[in-house]
Amino acid sequence: MGNIELLLGDITRDYGVDAIVNAANSSLLGGGGVDGAIHRAAGPELLEECRTLKGCPTGGAKTTRAYRLPCKYVIHTVGPVWHGGGQHEAALLKDCYHNSMTRALEAGARSVAFPSVSTGVYHYPVDQAAAIALKTVRDFWNAHASSFERILFVLFDERTLAAYKKAYEDLN
Ligand code: ADP
Repeated sequence: MGNIELLLGDITRDYGVDAIVNAANSSLLGGGGVDGAIHRAAGPELLEECRTLKGCPTGGAKTTRAYRLPCKYVIHTVGPVWHGGGQHEAALLKDCYHNSMTRALEAGARSVAFPSVSTGVYHYPVDQAAAIALKTVRDFWNAHASSFERILFVLFDERTLAAYKKAYEDLN
């Protein structure tokens, strides 16, 4: 098992991975933020395939092809909206990462890039989200070490990158 890579960048660019994860909403019919960027880069066929999925519950994850994106699969996960922490947000965010890794395993994707799910318009506090993201992915990789080659987080701004770097140092 390798180290989780933490990069600053745009997840729609070419990182040489088999799958990228999308922070979608429960309709799976597109939105702003990273979801909008992924749909723009993939082209309209992605929305056509997403329509056939009939949505996804919060914490769930569903796989599509990636069309014009430089990868094989998009794994669409639906993060929780932050309501202060008393509405199972932490368990639901953990489910997002666990279920996304499970979808990657099922697809045979050996390299996966994640964005920071829920910390944009869904307002999950980034320090807490980073700790959950890294622990869940690290533990899954540990449990399925031979199935994955590379796991990346592609973080869109310096503040988010710094929060993930700090959470990575504090992982236990
Ligand atoms: P959510 O609704 O789950 O909060 P957002 O897309 O609003 O999703 O934000 C999640 C994170 O994705 C934020 O840190 C945001 O800055 C980041 N983001 C936005 N565009 C991109 C992109 N092209 N590549 C990677 N991350 C992105």
